[in-house]
Amino acid sequence: MPSDLSTAVPVEPIAADAAAVDEQRRFPRAAIDELGRGGLLGLGLPGSNGGAGSNPLEFVNVVEQIAGACASTGMVYVMHIVGAQTLLAGIDGEDGPGPKQEALEAMAAGRHLTTLAYSERGSRSHFWAQVSHAREDGDAIFVDADKTWATSAGEADSYVLATGAPGTDDPLSTELYLVASDAPAVTIPRHFDGLGMRGNASAPLQVRDLRLERERRLGGERSGFGLMMTATLPWFALGSAACSVGIAGAALDAVVEHAKGARLGHEGSTLADVPGVRARLAHSRIRLRESRALLHEVAGEVARGEATAQEGVLAVKASAAEMAVEVTDLAMRVGGGVAYSKHGPLERHLRDARAASVMAPTTELLHDFLGKALTGQDLF
Ligand SMILES: Cc1cc2nc3c(=O)[nH]c(=O)nc-3n(C[C@H](O)[C@H](O)[C@H](O)COP(=O)(O)OP(=O)(O)OC[C@H]3O[C@@H](n4cnc5c(N)ncnc54)[C@H](O)[C@@H]3O)c2cc1C
Repeated sequence: MPSDLSTAVPVEPIAADAAAVDEQRRFPRAAIDELGRGGLLGLGLPGSNGGAGSNPLEFVNVVEQIAGACASTGMVYVMHIVGAQTLLAGIDGEDGPGPKQEALEAMAAGRHLTTLAYSERGSRSHFWAQVSHAREDGDAIFVDADKTWATSAGEADSYVLATGAPGTDDPLSTELYLVASDAPAVTIPRHFDGLGMRGNASAPLQVRDLRLERERRLGGERSGFGLMMTATLPWFALGSAACSVGIAGAALDAVVEHAKGARLGHEGSTLADVPGVRARLAHSRIRLRESRALLHEVAGEVARGEATAQEGVLAVKASAAEMAVEVTDLAMRVGGGVAYSKHGPLERHLRDARAASVMAPTTELLHDFLGKALTGQDLF
């Protein structure tokens, strides 16, 4: 296994399948299996779990490459690593061998894909608030929930599922559980036909009378909100931002090649000879580099546990999401009719780039949180 996992991404086969994954709305199973064989499903897991061990900077470099090749694969991968990191943070000293340890070991061996089931019908994009309820009964708890979206629904081996904690109606008093995806109490009423990231198998999950033993709970009683803020949010913000940077980079590469090759025969020139086209490409490159620089800065802050990391986490996803919307839009304009008529990947990149701004925390919520943080207000 290479010491730097970012050199182990099988970019070419993933890219070669991306158009078909999008068109057929097909889960990128071959890509995920290949990432597992390369040790990438174990990224970020310490050696004691058999994983590759890693840091957030390596994570964002890996995600940028995967998402640049295929955004659906990138999002499936991000949700897996975020779920794995949340699970890892939810292991406490009293945990012996059990389903959580087994899942982490299987992830490290490339045999287990996980994802998050947080978003609920009753609280929409405010995933940190859970309106579902759990009730205690002897040694187990029982959960009823309507999850609105889960990436890799029906494809992952497990879900990291959030629920309101037993014995309270406080929506911020939550718990996380590791749930086997083949549990009969968890069903998928329908799959989405999304605008972008069409292969990521997003779907609602209907959870009815799901019985969970306490050994499946991550962390202690009512520790869900804390785990979401300390583990889920930093890794998700970085992963989502890296997806956006990867998508924008792929769009820019594609449109630069188009501009160099598209001939204006009557003038003996190409699109690249048009000053306005060059200005759009240059602006896009600057925006991309700004976002990548911020991404690397924040990944470093998170890795080092610096005090500035919270502000960076709130900023990085919103910044990259809006950059990718802008850059893919500019790429469509330079690509002209070729882009509009689906010749090549540009319109796919435009559609894929739209997902990040609506994935929670949405850009609007992140701006509000950051504004609150700047003015010394409580975020929740
Ligand atoms: C491709 C994809 C994959 C996903 N994967 C997962 C997954 O694996 N697990 C998971 O749990 N969820 C997942 N989600 C769900 C996602 O995180 C959001 O919960 C979902 O997209 C929000 O949709 P909504 O219609 O409920 O948004 P709404 O909450 O209805 O938001 C609609 C608009 O209102 C704005 N808005 C809402 N509240 C405020 C506020 N207080 N201030 C300002 N503006 C506000 C939002 O910013 C947004 O623009 C996924 C979503 C997508 C698109």
